[in-house]
Amino acid sequence: MDAWRRRMLINEVKCKSILNKSGVSVIDYSINPYCGCAHKCQYCYAVFMKRFTGHTEPWGEFVDVKTNAPAVLARQLQRLKRQSRISLSTVCDPYQPLELKYQITRKCLEILLNYRHKLSILTKSPIVVRDIDVLEKLHKVKVSFTITTLNQSVKRVFEPKTPSADRRFLALRTLSQRGIATSVFVAPVLPHLSDSSEVLDGIFRASRRAGAQYVMFDTLNPYPRVWHNVRRLIKIHFPEAIKHYDYYYNNQKIYRVHLREKIARIGDKHNIEYKFAF
Ligand code: SF4
Repeated sequence: MDAWRRRMLINEVKCKSILNKSGVSVIDYSINPYCGCAHKCQYCYAVFMKRFTGHTEPWGEFVDVKTNAPAVLARQLQRLKRQSRISLSTVCDPYQPLELKYQITRKCLEILLNYRHKLSILTKSPIVVRDIDVLEKLHKVKVSFTITTLNQSVKRVFEPKTPSADRRFLALRTLSQRGIATSVFVAPVLPHLSDSSEVLDGIFRASRRAGAQYVMFDTLNPYPRVWHNVRRLIKIHFPEAIKHYDYYYNNQKIYRVHLREKIARIGDKHNIEYKFAF
């Protein structure tokens, strides 16, 4: 067992509600089977969950497993009369490593089989392929893989505990070959490290080859806590990039306009749809 696993605090908890109203316009409800995420991404905005749960451990070193989530979901879905758009998950990865043991996400999917809701799954993990048999039977489902970078050195710093981009693309390919709708979510685009024409071109090419229906982009959201951490890591690991981060922080609107233009220019060369979340 490595030092990181020894440090992980795993709590089995009971939730009162698992199908929660979403604050995002494109989704009606969210399902988050886990609170906390072992993927430990350094730009993760879900770090705000610590405030609500009383956790004092560093982000990425605790996970609350909502063991009664499937039973609560079954009850809540019975009361949900209209067809809804449900996201699994909005805050913490539903296919982080603990899912192999607990199977909470899988059990939630099995309950959703009894309904005709529109489900979107967002993950960084190929573990989702384990559930292909259930996904194939769902009324309407789309699986999106977050891919932030193709560069291993950047991934090691910002997503230290996630599966490689190659493994995510392979999983996406497996799902799309089985007829499951898939997409790629490039979020966040990291200034200087993942916003070059070469990197964007590589992501478009890999997404198309893997069979993604579209690629969606989002920029880094500089919440104070996230921004402080990202800037700290940039200073340590990519000091030459610090001026680009300071520029981004002070010129976000201009940066976004230029990024949109660049993505559109490159995206138009590839035979795949692209969208912006910013
Ligand atoms: S996988 Fe998502 S939820 Fe988990 S740490 Fe990374 S960004 Fe946060």
